[in-house]
Amino acid sequence: MNPQSPAELRCPRSGDPLALRNEGTEVFCSTCGTSWPIVNGYPRFVSSDHLASFGLQWNKYEVAHDDEDRATFQAKTGVLLHELLGQRVLDAGCGGGRYSKVAGEAGALVFGADHTTAVDKASQLCGHLPNVRFVQADLKHLPFEPQSFDFVFSIGVMHHDVRTRNVFDAVARMVKPGGRYAVWLYRRNQWWQERLNDALRRRTTRMKPERLERYCRFGAWLGGLPVLNKTLNKIVNFSAHPNWENRVCDTFDWFAPEYQYHHTVEELSGWFREAGFDNLQVLPPEKSGRFYRWTYEHNLLIGSGVNVVGRKCP
Ligand SMILES: [Zn+2]
Repeated sequence: MNPQSPAELRCPRSGDPLALRNEGTEVFCSTCGTSWPIVNGYPRFVSSDHLASFGLQWNKYEVAHDDEDRATFQAKTGVLLHELLGQRVLDAGCGGGRYSKVAGEAGALVFGADHTTAVDKASQLCGHLPNVRFVQADLKHLPFEPQSFDFVFSIGVMHHDVRTRNVFDAVARMVKPGGRYAVWLYRRNQWWQERLNDALRRRTTRMKPERLERYCRFGAWLGGLPVLNKTLNKIVNFSAHPNWENRVCDTFDWFAPEYQYHHTVEELSGWFREAGFDNLQVLPPEKSGRFYRWTYEHNLLIGSGVNVVGRKCP
């Protein structure tokens, strides 16, 4: 457990420094008089709200795999691990903390923020890393100094808010001039896939988690079948990850959250430019293979991403 130093925290409302109070059980803003509890060593600025399914899934499933997570981190951020040494890094929507761990092990000072109780899992996963800290917070109202991070990344998170763009813009404000910002969002698929997916998710997002998990285990079983796991999942999404537990978790991750928006590269690149970023780079998908690339380029891969990294203009 690496308790948060309040010196790093700012009031999400006034932007003023916070102090510890009540024998270290809460952080307090003397400007607006608000206090927030510290639970299991980490300050909690929000409760999970509509994102509670993520707290459930990340605490329940063991999905971190060191080699895979390092490769995915580099593919989805465009940043190499050796570049992170000594950098101040924000993992916006850290979930169970697998990418905070990657960045922490590479020698960065990492702050992981997540709206849900997944930070409890993240803090366990990174318990051996004193340079990695967490907060439970709304990404639109982060308790940090704006423009204070050398590198900010957000992998597969922002599209779960009521409005993706609001999260993108709020997190973008955390990047230092000259710093980098990498964002991965769900890609918009063909219209018929979007329609079918919306109809399915209208049902699944209302299911009790236990019931939905039973469907997801069926999806995970399909995801283990050769041929079918590369064809049928262009119609109904389920994960084809080689590991069973990741397949169940990824499939649940798709069907449980209340909001899930899909975006285009043009849209995401436009947000970067309007927020004052240049040197934009559209990152290619991690997987290769001719069939994979063809389906990806035709927006047929459900659950694939649009992925851009940019530099904040000085
Ligand atoms: Zn305040």
